[in-house]
Amino acid sequence: MPHGPSTTASAYTDKAVYRRLLRYSAPHWKVFLVAVLGMVLFAAVDTAFIRLIQPLTDGSFVHKDPQIMRIVPFAILGLFVLRGVAHFTSTYGMAWVAERVVLRLRGEVFDHLLRLPVSHYDKTRNADMLIKLTYQTTQVAQSGTTVLTALIKDGLTIVGLIAVMLYMSWQLTIVALCVAPFVAGSVRFVSKRFKVINQRLQASMGGVTHVADEAITGRRVVKVYGGEAYEAGRFREVNDFIRRQALKLVASSSGANGVVQLIAAVAVAAIVYLAISGDLRVATPGTFVAFIGAMLAIRAPLNALTGIADKLTRGLVAAADLFQFLDIAPEPPGGTLPLQRARGEIRFDNVRFCYGGDEVKAALDGVTLEVKPGQTVAFVGRSGSGKSTLLSLLPRFYDPTSGGVILDGRDVRDYRLADLRRQIALVDQNVVLFNASVADNIAYGVRDQVSREQIIEAARAAYAWDFIEKLDNGLDALLGQNGVNLSGGQRQRIAIARALLRNAPILILDEATSALDTESERYIQQALERLVQGRTTLVIAHRLSTVQRADLIAVMQDGRIMETGRHADLLAHNGLYAALHQMQFDDV
Ligand code: ADP
Ligand code: MG
Repeated sequence: MPHGPSTTASAYTDKAVYRRLLRYSAPHWKVFLVAVLGMVLFAAVDTAFIRLIQPLTDGSFVHKDPQIMRIVPFAILGLFVLRGVAHFTSTYGMAWVAERVVLRLRGEVFDHLLRLPVSHYDKTRNADMLIKLTYQTTQVAQSGTTVLTALIKDGLTIVGLIAVMLYMSWQLTIVALCVAPFVAGSVRFVSKRFKVINQRLQASMGGVTHVADEAITGRRVVKVYGGEAYEAGRFREVNDFIRRQALKLVASSSGANGVVQLIAAVAVAAIVYLAISGDLRVATPGTFVAFIGAMLAIRAPLNALTGIADKLTRGLVAAADLFQFLDIAPEPPGGTLPLQRARGEIRFDNVRFCYGGDEVKAALDGVTLEVKPGQTVAFVGRSGSGKSTLLSLLPRFYDPTSGGVILDGRDVRDYRLADLRRQIALVDQNVVLFNASVADNIAYGVRDQVSREQIIEAARAAYAWDFIEKLDNGLDALLGQNGVNLSGGQRQRIAIARALLRNAPILILDEATSALDTESERYIQQALERLVQGRTTLVIAHRLSTVQRADLIAVMQDGRIMETGRHADLLAHNGLYAALHQMQFDDV
């Protein structure tokens, strides 16, 4: 069952998240098994090496056994070759599985992103969704890898080393195991403090990016308002804060390091003393070296193992968050009624709509309007009067809270969603150009259904061909963030070409508020005239020329349609439209 983000967290208990994660990694159990074998081998080699120190030392230094002296170098070499193979197998195998999991998770998150309802985007910051795609997916896999590796490889190494210690001297081992918790406790205390400072440092790094980002994106404002000194001051502050934190970090880490070393040295010295004198004296030099070696070697895997609880929690939190996101209900597929090509008769039937279901303030409050096929209706009204909201109900970005939007006599909710949306072309205020060629941008969504000639034809009809031809690579020039810069008017003509090529029976047009130069204006006007031919057009109008030419003008205020009529009639009526007109167009 799909749930919204508001469902109780009970579906995301650690156990449930584990089980779900298992589904992602289970198909790769063979590779995982190989990796685990590598880890077992690694632990065995490390243990064997320490264990072999005893006969090597005793055999070579004490008894000068020539046979042992001959095989020692080869034994060492062999062990390290094995160790290398084991290390590679385990690391690569785990990474292979982890990357598979990331691949699938990331793919699912992106697919889901595309299928989410528009209302979700309203509620969520873009950055949060991007973080899910990039950081969180990797974090899940990484912490999984670290935790499993620590558990298996380091866990087994520790068991092996303790076994060696027990074998060499069980009495000394017991002493060492009793001392260990005190050493570990003091180390943890010191490193916790270290972590706090480190986190503060990380946070202030964020401050630098933040200040710099504001200065970069707001560069025009900074320049015009002379904010350089202010920005520089702010930056100096965070910059210096970082310096102090970094020094504190070094001071505490190197200081702490000394303390930790000292504590450990005291413990080791005590055990060494016991091992070379007194009742617990070990039998041979080899035993002594092997025992001390095992004790020292145990530190690294022990360290790795102590950090895993933290990593595990972080991984589980990230995974739970991702799963919660994946469980948000996607846009429903709509009705079952197929629709080839609509005639384009649209009726808003007493439409009421509240964003986010809050009933206090309705964005649309009882809108009724009939649009005949092929008509052009211009919506005018102050900002916030509900024009954009009304038009977003037609492609079902939102559904009315009550009332209905009727297309060709049927509620839009009856049609298949994809069929419904295919009837609509959209030319927006902010033309979105994708990072792709001019041709791909014009043929967005229908690239494989249209020929190059058709694209050129659309570009010509949109009065865009003139400037496209002059681009360096013509139709193949790259647009978007990394491509050529187009002027506002040129972008709009690309958008018009896109809409022309789509050849949909219904056109939704949100005119740009920003003024264009007269030449662009004229071209766009002509291109638009061609575009609205034979289509039902709903336009949010900011230009007098558009308004004057419309078959019907709907004047909106506070989510209602207050007046409808043609330009001259509405002017004569001397009501809201006349007032708006005077405000908006008098100086044109
Ligand atoms: P217009 O296009 O006429 O300027 P809108 O349709 O954008 O007006 O807005 C109508 C009302 O709905 C406004 O009060 C606005 O604040 C509100 N509104 C618009 N978009 C959203 C949204 N995504 N979430 C919540 N409220 C919104
Ligand atoms: Mg608007």
